[in-house]
Parts: sequence; C-alpha cells; structure tokens
Amino acid sequence: MRPLSKKLSAIERSQTMMLFARAKKMKADGIDVVSLTAGEPDFPTPQTIKDAAIKAINENFTKYTANQGIPELLKAVAEKFQRDNNLRFEPSQILVSSGAKHSLYNSLQAICNRGDEVVIPAPYWVSYPEMTKLVDAVPVIVKTSPANQFKMTPSQLKKAITRKTKAMILCSPSNPTGAVYTKEEILAIADVVESSGIYVISDEIYEKVVYDGLKHFSIGSVESVRDQVITVNGVSKAYSMTGWRIGFLGARGDITEAADKVQSQITSNANAIAQKAAYAALCGNLDGEVSAMVTEFDRRRHFLVSEFQKIAGLEFIYPRGAFYIFANVRNFLNKSANGSRIKTADDLCEHLLTKHLVATVPGSGFGAKDWVRMSYACSMADLQKAVERLHRALGELS
Ligand code: PMP
Ligand code: GLU
Repeated sequence: MRPLSKKLSAIERSQTMMLFARAKKMKADGIDVVSLTAGEPDFPTPQTIKDAAIKAINENFTKYTANQGIPELLKAVAEKFQRDNNLRFEPSQILVSSGAKHSLYNSLQAICNRGDEVVIPAPYWVSYPEMTKLVDAVPVIVKTSPANQFKMTPSQLKKAITRKTKAMILCSPSNPTGAVYTKEEILAIADVVESSGIYVISDEIYEKVVYDGLKHFSIGSVESVRDQVITVNGVSKAYSMTGWRIGFLGARGDITEAADKVQSQITSNANAIAQKAAYAALCGNLDGEVSAMVTEFDRRRHFLVSEFQKIAGLEFIYPRGAFYIFANVRNFLNKSANGSRIKTADDLCEHLLTKHLVATVPGSGFGAKDWVRMSYACSMADLQKAVERLHRALGELS
C-alpha cells in the first residue's frame, strides 16, 4: 500500500478537540465526568440570533453565497472593526470563513512560502504551530516567562526575528494563559513589527472577555503597522456561537484577496444561514447579553481563583481575560496515587480524568509542559463539582 502524507506525521491532532470529544463520549456513556476542556461558553446562543437563522431558512436563504461572505455581513464586520477596535477596513478587505480557526489558516496560507518562519510565543493556542507546519512554514517558538504573565517582550520578539521570519502570531486575551497585553505592551511590540517588516496575525477571538476593567487593544489600530496586521475575530466566544462556525479577518486588500482565493478552492463560502445569524449578532445591539455572559464568567473566575488558592502546591496565572486558568502542577508530579505513578502533566490529566472524572487539557499541547489548562466556560454547578474532585485528587498527591 502507498504511504499516506508524510507531512501529517509531524502534525499533532488538536489536544483540545480530542479531550473535549473524549469527555463528551464519557458523558454520553453515562459517566458523570466534568469537562473543563474546550473553551465553549455554556450559554444558549441569544434568541435574536437564532430567530435570524430560522428566518433565513424559512426564506430559503440556503444556497451558496459569494465566497467572501454576504455583502451585509462584510459591511457589518467592517463596522464592528471600526466601532470596537478602531480598525479601518472597506468591506472588500473582509473575508468571512468557517470559524476563526479557518480565518487563521487562510491567513497563514495567504502569506507563507515554504520555509518561512512564524514566531509563536509559548504557551500558545494548540493549533498555531500545527497550522504553520500545514502551510510548510516553520514555527519558531519563543518561550515566555510566567513572571511576565507569559507575555512576550519586544526584546524576545526582536531576538526571534531572522531573515526568514514572515510573521508572528499574537493572541490577546490569551488562550491558554488568560493574559491580556496592555496598550503600552502592544505599542512596544508594534515598534519591532514596524522596524522588521514582518506580518502580525492578531487573534482577537477573546476580545470581549476581559475583566478587572481592562480594555482590549488591537495592534492593527497602530497606524505605523496597520498594513502588516491581519486581524482575526469571530462570533464563537462573544455570542456563544461555537457551533455556527463563523469567523472573519480584516487585512490589507491584497492579503484578503489571497486568503479569499485559498478559501475559494477549499471550502467556498461559510454557511449561508450562519452568516445571517452572525449578521444579527453583530448588528443586534447585544452588548447587554455579552456583558451578562462576561459577568458570569467573571463570577466563575473569582470562584476558581479562590478555590485554587486553597490547594496547597497549585500555582497558576491570575487570568485577566478569556475563560481559562493555566496552572502549574510541578508540585504534583513524580508522585503515586492508587498504584499509578504520575510523572508528567499529561499523566496527571489522564489520572484526573480516569480516576476523578475531571477532564482538563495538559500543557504539552500548548508548549508548556508542567502546566494544565482548565476552562471555566462551563456551568457553576460543574465548576463546584470539579473543584471538590480536584481538591481530593491533588490532596492525595501532595
Ligand atoms: N483562536 C483561539 C485562541 C481560540 O481559542 C479559538 C477557539 N476555538 C479559535 C481561535 C477558533 O475559534 P472558532 O470557533 O471561531 O473557530
Ligand atoms: N478554542 C477552544 C479551545 O481552545 C475550542 C477547541 C478548539 O477549537 O481547538 O478549547
């Protein structure tokens, strides 16, 4: 038999998706597992958005659309970027895709040649290095420090840039650390971007999920680098629309055109009905709904932080945005429990899942090996259950 793709042997399956599916399957099998895996808000999608989709179906808006997206959504995205992020785009500079994940992949396809380097600060979201490899570029991982909330400094970026660097990926608020770059930090990064001429893929999917009065700042709004920035966002997190699969990017015209060309040969337009729903999300005056969700995430964040502070030996990054807690578990490694030896954070996550029915994601997938990511996008009742189990499980190990 002929071999399958060689490239894929160097690519990991998405850990977040894998563990999410595993926890879901256990639940379907009747096992009382609490899943802190995927960052998926537990709220229903707001009713006005659902109504827009139902209306679209009833009006037979069920056919292909323009590859780039329906005109009213392109316009609404351009207006959203202006309103929320101070980014100036014509609708022609917007590309609507099947989730922000797809927008990120299209962005990389649009700018990378074989062998180009893409700077990715670690801890990173699981898919960045793998997507980079999929487009035949080379991920250059920059290790950041927990002492700096895992934020990349301008000098770290400068050091990582070579002749071959094509781009860097910036994720603020960050998945998995919950760190939020300040305006000053972004401006300092922008200086390096400007002088080096690299592109920035700015993943702003958690833009609306920030706490403690912080405000998200878009690097693309810095005039000196605006033509070097591809801004990626979507409706999954802000409007609890993960399953609808709508993401978008805004960029310099030729970049958007290149990404649009890629998409035209791979998937064509994003789902027509979901585009109508995304339009309703962006134009529906849903700020109240969004802030109610964020307030609830904040309540859960406070709950988890205060509970985790009571677990001796558990260290974590105080999350300022998104809905994850990233915890260092080194004090629980090289210990035994119920006859099994726990050597790595991966072993610990396996132990937590199989013996204590709490599903988490090990840091290995995020480029941080002694760490574990826990999502608090799930219900408070689930979080309470998870905390009790974690107290017990980690107590046995410490
Ligand atoms: N970027 C980050 C950092 C994410 O956590 C996610 C969540 N899946 C995405 C992009 C992709 O979001 P979407 O559901 O819109 O594809
Ligand atoms: N972004 C979410 C997460 O990191 C969903 C899973 C995924 O798309 O990989 O959990």
